[in-house]
Amino acid sequence: MKAKVLIATRSFGSTSERPWQVLAEAGCETVRADMSQKMTEQRLIELLNGMDGAVVGVVPMTDRVIESASSLKVVSMHGVGFDHVDLEAAARKGLIVANCPGANDQAVADLAIGLMVAIARRIPFADQDVRNGKWGRYQGTELWKKTLSLIGLGRIGRGVAKRALGFEMQVLAYDPYVDEVQAEAIGVRMSSFEEVITAADFLSLHATLTEETRHMIGKRELERMKPSAFLINTARGGLVDEEVLYAALAEGRLAGAGLDAFAAEPPTGSPLLQLENVVLTPHIGAHTQEAIERVGVLSARNVVQALRTGEPVHRVV
Ligand code: NAD
Repeated sequence: MKAKVLIATRSFGSTSERPWQVLAEAGCETVRADMSQKMTEQRLIELLNGMDGAVVGVVPMTDRVIESASSLKVVSMHGVGFDHVDLEAAARKGLIVANCPGANDQAVADLAIGLMVAIARRIPFADQDVRNGKWGRYQGTELWKKTLSLIGLGRIGRGVAKRALGFEMQVLAYDPYVDEVQAEAIGVRMSSFEEVITAADFLSLHATLTEETRHMIGKRELERMKPSAFLINTARGGLVDEEVLYAALAEGRLAGAGLDAFAAEPPTGSPLLQLENVVLTPHIGAHTQEAIERVGVLSARNVVQALRTGEPVHRVV
């Protein structure tokens, strides 16, 4: 198969050769985009010129980009989220959009638990103090037997639930697309949106970002959370109204937050960066050696299989 494939993501094949081999064995010629510069619409249009397939990270796959990519037949996300892709434009153009569900969920679930422990025990601040010659006493909060509320009980939400049960947490979930029987089978109780907000000691977000879920954690929700509660977001920044989150944290109406996803990434100039009750990570949820290899291989297979048969391994549209 003679095909040209653009790789527009920093981490593709960075922990193992396997993803590159999948493309090479299928006879694909790969072109690697320079990801050290900001990926603008214009740059992406130029890079996609003459490409048959692409593996992309969070780059602006807008209507204009998709319309201009006349030779492009398939684009695979190097991950799960596809909210940066104009799916309507893709469907109109007949562009196959694929993603990699199940390849990085365990990595993100690990990080969500990591952020819970980090903020509840103030680990990053304690670490900084020890490095600066201080030997303070930080008083933390335990996870043990606390209530964990999940919004979104998909692959990552379930992974977090399984881990949380090891802490003997009571796990509640709100997800309108998951039924009680499925949840009960993994020890989770389905609850109303109201209950997950008000009962949470830890509220962890794992929903897809859609028009329905955008800013689902806003003023009303933050006012109803316990002041002792922690918010964890490893899903998408757009799920939370960051302005009201900042106000709640700054005024002590919420104990803390652990954030891996932001409305704008990087969150340059965000007032959240000034707060001492927030732990921030640079969207590293999926960045483990193992997950990067699994996602790389699956995204490469998506492209190869779609070019060969017209159907990727996991189709979005
Ligand atoms: P998934 O599709 O398996 O699960 C998403 C869940 O959200 C589904 O069960 C769905 O029913 C639920 N949902 C949809 N609308 C909802 C609503 N209105 N209220 C509550 N739940 C709703 O996806 P996943 O792999 O578990 O990913 C979850 C999130 O994590 C996504 O936002 C994804 O973009 C994000 N993610 C982040 C990273 C990272 O690096 N931090 C990596 C992978 C995925």
